[in-house]
Amino acid sequence: MPMMNAKEYEESLKKLNLVVYMFGERVENVVDNPILRPSLNAVAKTYELAHMPEHEDLMTTTSHITGNKINRFTHIHQNVTDLVKKSKMGRLLGRKTGCCFQRCVGMDSMNALSIVTHNIDEKKGTEYKKRFLKFLEYVQENDLTCDGAMTDPKGDRSLPPHKQTDPDLYVHVIEEREDGIVVRGAKAHQTGATNSHEIIVMPTVAMREDDADYAVSFAIPSDTQGIYYIIGRQSCDTRKLEGGNMDQGNLYYGGQEALVIFDDVFVPWDRVFMYKEYEFAGQLVESFAAYHRQSYACKVGVGDVIIGASQTIAEYNGAEKASHVKDKIIEMNHLNETLYSGCISCASEGHKTPSGTYLVNILLANVHKQNVTRFPYELARIAQDIAGGLMVTLPSEKDLESPETGKWIEKYYQTKPDVNTRDRMRILRLIENLTLGTAAVGYLTESMHGAGSPQAQRIMIARNVNMDEKKKAAKALCGIIK
Ligand code: SF4
Ligand code: FE
Repeated sequence: MPMMNAKEYEESLKKLNLVVYMFGERVENVVDNPILRPSLNAVAKTYELAHMPEHEDLMTTTSHITGNKINRFTHIHQNVTDLVKKSKMGRLLGRKTGCCFQRCVGMDSMNALSIVTHNIDEKKGTEYKKRFLKFLEYVQENDLTCDGAMTDPKGDRSLPPHKQTDPDLYVHVIEEREDGIVVRGAKAHQTGATNSHEIIVMPTVAMREDDADYAVSFAIPSDTQGIYYIIGRQSCDTRKLEGGNMDQGNLYYGGQEALVIFDDVFVPWDRVFMYKEYEFAGQLVESFAAYHRQSYACKVGVGDVIIGASQTIAEYNGAEKASHVKDKIIEMNHLNETLYSGCISCASEGHKTPSGTYLVNILLANVHKQNVTRFPYELARIAQDIAGGLMVTLPSEKDLESPETGKWIEKYYQTKPDVNTRDRMRILRLIENLTLGTAAVGYLTESMHGAGSPQAQRIMIARNVNMDEKKKAAKALCGIIK
């Protein structure tokens, strides 16, 4: 089957029968819901760009299992060039959407599973890789979007899964049957969950033998019986219900997170990729995390948007020639390109694993993500500095349209004769959206906690740095060792 285009993707979602709740009510039409729709549009962009000749090289590739042309989001990285193109694709989509486009989590979980199912089979003589490849081929041939579901609610952080007061605070197996397993639990903050055809579940922490029931990985269709979605709300989300086309800031795209509940869900054996192999849970977490930390190339693309918006408002305000404004824009570019260097370098320094799949340099991927927990906040701070206070005191679009008040807004918020006051309001709303509104989830808080909170990267940096080599270098130079 050829790759889907954006329209076909939308049609494919319409066929799903998801059980979604938002604001205390069941969402009957998920695809056309005004709050959810921008998030669907953002994923649809990954389908749309794949059909554009100018983006074909980044957005598509050749399947290593079928030889067919596929969307890169369904690909298993076969070399360093694949890894580098993945980073570039993330920046491109971040720039095109100005938000989280959600499809990376599935790609990253499939790449991690291609490594870990191979390693489990090697050690235990199991057949996980065969099952996984069958699933992968199905995903590639049907050009599906997958939700990579890792983060459990986790309850009391000081306790392992099996010691929690409520055993369901981590996803676990509650029944083993001849034809499969039954699982219960939940995954929190699931990016793009209701825009996905499949959910790929993975454990969220390294585990010991006592936690074997929790060491489980599998994939199931997103509308499987027993799965429930509760949409997370975002700052200013109800602006999307107000009509008009200005106050949302980003008029077309947005992110989405949901709490996904698995209420005794049956998973057939051929969709189970890890079953009680607790000693491999940590490896799956680490490989997924490394890939997903690389994926934060997306924030470089959103950074491009925020820099463009800052330059634009400076020009609209007549402030673009002020030396401090010029310097602030340089600082924004410096920070954003430093982020770019990180996601390119961890890809360029990638290596082949025994499975044949290429994995990013884990140390550099963690360094990159650690920078992502900081630099977007600084970029947002500078953008707000350049934008000025009007970004948060601006009247609504309805006031602008009102015959009583519109004339005053037009009069008192004009700057230069060649600047349209409406355009000035639009760009301010975009900066508001990126730094305080719905997109701030994706640009700021997701930068902080997505793919693991800052401390998770610091642990990995400590673990992956070669301290002996550094000590040796120092000792050799001052004569402690020869
Ligand atoms: Fe992809 Fe970035 Fe969204 Fe994660 S935050 S799913 S890396 S776009
Ligand atoms: Fe994320």
